[in-house]
Amino acid sequence: MPDSSDRLPENAAAATPMMAQYLDVKRAHPDCLVFYRMGDFFELFFEDAVAAAKALDIALTQRGKHNGAEVPMCGVPAHSHEAYLARLIRQGFKVALCDQVEDAAEAKKRGGKTLVRRSVVRVVTPGTLTEDQLLDARRANYLAALGDAGGALALAWLDMSTGEFSVEPIEPQRLAAALARLDPQELLLPDRLLQREGLFETWAEFKQRLTPLPGSRFDSEGGRLRLQRFYGVAALDGFGAFGRPEWAAMGALLDYVELTQKGKLPRIAPPRRFVEGSVLEIDAATRRNLELVQSLSGERQGSLAAAIDRTLTGAGARLLGARIAAPLTDPDAIGARLDAVQFFVTDERLRAQVRERLRKVPDIGRALTRLSLGRGGPRDLAALRDGLAAGREIRRTLGTDGLAGPPEAVTAAMRALEHHDVLIERLAASLAPELPLLPRDGGFIAKGVAPELDELRTLRDESRRHILNLEAGYRTETGVASLKIRHNNVLGYYIEVTPAHADKFPIGAGHRFIHRQTLAGAVRFTTVELSELESKILTAADKALAVELALFEALVSEVTQRADAVAAAAEALAELDVAAGLAELAAERRWSRPLVDRSLAFTIEGGRHPVVEAALEASQAGPFAPNDCDLAEDRRLWLLTGPNMAGKSTFLRQNALIAVLAQVGSFVPAASAHIGAVDRLFSRVGAADDLARGRSTFMVEMVETAAILNQAGPRSFVILDEIGRGTATFDGLSIAWAALEHLHEVNRCRALFATHYHELTALASKLSALKPHSMRIKEWQGGIVFLHEVAAGAADRSYGIHVAKLAGLPAAVIQRAEAVLELLEKGDQAGALARLADDLPLFSAATKGAAPAQPSAIEAALAEIHPDELTPKEALEALYRLKALLREAG
Ligand code: ADP
Ligand code: MG
Repeated sequence: MPDSSDRLPENAAAATPMMAQYLDVKRAHPDCLVFYRMGDFFELFFEDAVAAAKALDIALTQRGKHNGAEVPMCGVPAHSHEAYLARLIRQGFKVALCDQVEDAAEAKKRGGKTLVRRSVVRVVTPGTLTEDQLLDARRANYLAALGDAGGALALAWLDMSTGEFSVEPIEPQRLAAALARLDPQELLLPDRLLQREGLFETWAEFKQRLTPLPGSRFDSEGGRLRLQRFYGVAALDGFGAFGRPEWAAMGALLDYVELTQKGKLPRIAPPRRFVEGSVLEIDAATRRNLELVQSLSGERQGSLAAAIDRTLTGAGARLLGARIAAPLTDPDAIGARLDAVQFFVTDERLRAQVRERLRKVPDIGRALTRLSLGRGGPRDLAALRDGLAAGREIRRTLGTDGLAGPPEAVTAAMRALEHHDVLIERLAASLAPELPLLPRDGGFIAKGVAPELDELRTLRDESRRHILNLEAGYRTETGVASLKIRHNNVLGYYIEVTPAHADKFPIGAGHRFIHRQTLAGAVRFTTVELSELESKILTAADKALAVELALFEALVSEVTQRADAVAAAAEALAELDVAAGLAELAAERRWSRPLVDRSLAFTIEGGRHPVVEAALEASQAGPFAPNDCDLAEDRRLWLLTGPNMAGKSTFLRQNALIAVLAQVGSFVPAASAHIGAVDRLFSRVGAADDLARGRSTFMVEMVETAAILNQAGPRSFVILDEIGRGTATFDGLSIAWAALEHLHEVNRCRALFATHYHELTALASKLSALKPHSMRIKEWQGGIVFLHEVAAGAADRSYGIHVAKLAGLPAAVIQRAEAVLELLEKGDQAGALARLADDLPLFSAATKGAAPAQPSAIEAALAEIHPDELTPKEALEALYRLKALLREAG
């Protein structure tokens, strides 16, 4: 965050009044770019101007001098400033919007040469956005805060655009995973926590999004009182049993919202308490690796979320995203979600009808927030009207369905869509067909709503008609057919003729035409009649706007009085969108309903990888080969071998993704699936595969593997893909070997372990629950064909050379590699390597003689013997030793 306060001119006394006003504002907001309103523009000065001009790629100019130096300046038009704001916010800036809070006329009334009053009306930060233009419609936008008290931590998070508010007590070692789950745009924390040991890496990861604040803002008692005041309750017990760190986090969040919104608070739902263990824990590395919401290259395309999202509304997409990020662990809650999906899978016609209506549902949650913040417009009211009306239709559609009643999740949504009739009718009757963006543009209240308004409008319109009549009259009267009555902001209404006709308009006392202006191509007049009409029109328009604004406020207050019910309807629509969308997906891709229970089962029949399968289909690269997976108690650890490109990684990931999907409450890409709810999911990939992150070191691989071996428990599900690949063969093999033993003996979790070290299959005889499997290969015409089938039993070889051949290595290299492999596989690797080195066909001349022959074991032993120092008995023993060595060597 650029902080330019220290570069501001020192001597404010020497500043012009305007510059002094600006400097005051800037000093109060040192960490923000200040957008300073001047007429139709927001201007930036000094370092702010330099930074913004660069970030926005706009011209940097100067405005006068300050203390003898030029003042750098740049500006953006006020009417389109949001687009520029969006770009700055995305680049991590915060912006203080300093607007005029009175108009020039008001300022003048205060006498003398007065400056128009300005003040910061809002601080725009990445975590406190509410405008559709600044937000991604299909993604939540979280502001998070970390509280600490008595050494314990809590994390609170708020999507200000919808008012969704949650809190969770959190252990420090789980913080990184929780932040990875939420992906907050901004994280508030007491600055003392920056020094807290064990959290440095987490801060480094979120560096761009941290907002450290003084510890006093995180006072737990202050937080508790703030919450009580905000919700108007005497005690918070009704919302849950919160601890001090939670109050601290929630209080700091509300405080920050108040601070940035300059006292205006949006509607915020009562906090939901997140219970630890209620969601499947997935750490940051696993999330990335499984490409849940983003592919390894950082795009949504290619992620699980993109592959399964069939939602039709922004709110639905956001809810689905949140569910993918945080799958459940409670089988009953999962079952309830699955019931809703099943309901829409079964009734295809109903699904189609509901989805048809969902298409028409605008983002009422975000519209409601803007209205509650006093930042809404007529179109937000229209969004509520249309969303609630579509909800009512959906409610009716669901209500008329056949015999079997809808499941609980659906009936709950139906209830939330009831009883909005009064508001819907009121909005429908009040709003005009065409709506302006801003209330002050007027014209949004329908005819027939307020007699007073209609009268004023008639007056205004009639006066306009009068002007037309007047124009016609003046034309006949003067005989100038080209005479026109026009309007502009400076003169108001005026009569215009070309200079050639000017002499037909005598002016001066006693004449009706009054000269206003002479231009090169036009002469302008007015008349008393015209001025009178004009002021009638103006007063009528002013009065009409005032009436409209009052009606707007009345409508907004009607909405905010029902805010909780409207928010519930918004959630219900999102819920239905997710359920119907997942049903659509299940039907379209022939997915099946998983069984999730409290067992330790993991039985998948005919499992597929949702993203790879879709990609194969899209490129018509042949069908995806389905595979089974069974990790029952006595075979909970699968060792999967097979050559590169055989499908090992795909198989590992597909099983992890099936578990995620099942616990999200979605159908899964398998013929059948029975999964004992997983509590933690881990996935690691050998270093060489993890290139996308640009830190693909062996060290990272080992750190991540350590985390698994230290943390995985009996309910965890682990996939390890070619662990140990990032180092030398024997090192890697040894690490993989020991890790397998540890998983089997200590972690005792369900796990899939893919490796190209087929030597590891030897462990199967020792570890009872370890089952070797391999990717089936067909050897054909000296080459191999990948069948992508997982079969029981070990691969007898790793086929690396076959793959190398497929890849087009020169035939000489392939032949030589085959010879080397044959020697190596005969055992006695050390001796073989020595012989190979002796036998380098390409470099034989150079190596021969260059390497002196090593003394044999017997020769070495003989060299150690000094006969003069031996007793006869020792001499006899030495002879026996030499004999034994001879036998060994032979
Ligand atoms: P490995 O990890 O064994 O090197 P991958 O899992 O990366 O192999 O798979 C390599 C390629 O093989 C994938 O990109 C995909 O195109 C194809 N593939 C993998 N599994 C299957 C399958 N079950 N059916 C069809 N094609 C598959
Ligand atoms: Mg692989």
